[in-house]
Amino acid sequence: MGEDGQKNAENKEAMVGQKRGERSDEDMHKFYSDVQGMEKKLKRRGEEIEVVGHDLYREYLRDEAASRLNELGKVSDVNGYLERTFLSPASVRAANVISQWMEDAGWVDIMGNVHGRVDGMNASAPALLMGSHLDTVVDAGKFDGALGIVSAISALKVLMVTEKLENLRNPVEVIAFSDEEGVRFQSTFLGSAAIAGILPASTLNISDKSGITLQEVLNKNAVGVTEDKFIQLKYQPESVLGYVEVHIEQGPVLEAAGIPLGVVKGIAGQTRLKVTVSGSQGHAGTVPMSMRRDPMAAAAELIVLLESLCKQPQNFLSYDDDCSTVESLFGSLVCTVTFTVDLRAMDDAGREAVLYELSARMYNICDKRSVSCVIERKHDANAVKCNSELSLQLQSAALTAFRKMAGNVDVDVPKLMSGAGHDAMAMAHLTKMGMLFVRCRGGISHSPAEHVLDDDVWAAGLAILAFLENHV
Ligand SMILES: [Zn+2]
Repeated sequence: MGEDGQKNAENKEAMVGQKRGERSDEDMHKFYSDVQGMEKKLKRRGEEIEVVGHDLYREYLRDEAASRLNELGKVSDVNGYLERTFLSPASVRAANVISQWMEDAGWVDIMGNVHGRVDGMNASAPALLMGSHLDTVVDAGKFDGALGIVSAISALKVLMVTEKLENLRNPVEVIAFSDEEGVRFQSTFLGSAAIAGILPASTLNISDKSGITLQEVLNKNAVGVTEDKFIQLKYQPESVLGYVEVHIEQGPVLEAAGIPLGVVKGIAGQTRLKVTVSGSQGHAGTVPMSMRRDPMAAAAELIVLLESLCKQPQNFLSYDDDCSTVESLFGSLVCTVTFTVDLRAMDDAGREAVLYELSARMYNICDKRSVSCVIERKHDANAVKCNSELSLQLQSAALTAFRKMAGNVDVDVPKLMSGAGHDAMAMAHLTKMGMLFVRCRGGISHSPAEHVLDDDVWAAGLAILAFLENHV
């Protein structure tokens, strides 16, 4: 291969795994090295340690955290990719690993949630809860969930080695939730919902695809799981100060802004619909176009309607009851098209208005096309707002982290909406909550291509450390 050929091959290689719009590591790194280059800056900061007495704790917040993420990323039920569903053998192993990181402060509850608690100066004061989930989707990335657990543990470890744990006015408890993704039982937030007290005891009867009930799984994991014990998992609201979660953004906004961390404003509410459109088959040559009942064409029109409505809802939100039915003439074989609709918005009333308008127009289109249409509402969750005080505290903590790592940068910490659900959504039923997002390359998640810079892991750890030092 000639030099040019070699270069082309190298360029091509560099582009593999990086899609349009995604940044390279160097690009993402620019945040830290805009002026003098990262290493130089760190040295300068290093000299400042003696002067102002604060450290970057690279050893714990970056290197150890990154190596723990790698370690946890290898704890899988299958060879070759990451899969760790609720209370699977790998989940139990992962829980043990996390519990060891919590040293003698850790324990595992009957739902498989791992807890680690430090008392601070007043063990009976309401506790700040921090954490995320230890389960994964099938063929997952190593940061989704794990990052929130690891960064919380690392920040507490820094407080431990610097002997500052006693300065905490409130106890701090890290929880690695056993189920957020809902892969095994098709029911999300089993771990956090149990602690928030919003999981009914009847959930014990749900079964996975092999027919094993939740009760049986729990009994296998811990002896004597009763309904009473299950209900006792719930924390009392007065025993809790708040909940804070660090999570990868799972979207491209922070990457596009070139900023490692952002504060979450809220988590969108969600409705899932199942739409079934039924028509009938006819001869391609003999049935006149005006008499056709083609569910595929109707579904296509419904999907385009959905897109237009979600792009410009203001053009649609007035109801026009124009219903003209064409007599159905061909009724031999029934054809059915089924599709699902996933609708999310921060504004619950707005989501309802869009749903009302969407359903009315969908039925109207199907009437006109002489196909029948059934719209089933399969899932509903209301939007959850992050607590404004916690958000402000996290925002200032993120800025502290930026300034420690990148000098006196003057950036607005982005404020984002979360389109994805998180444990914080369940925990909001128990206490006030706040979330910090960490940028991930290309906004990609639920994939082995999930990627977070080691330095962004570091920034997240520093931010949580600053939050604990200044606000707890
Ligand atoms: Zn997650």
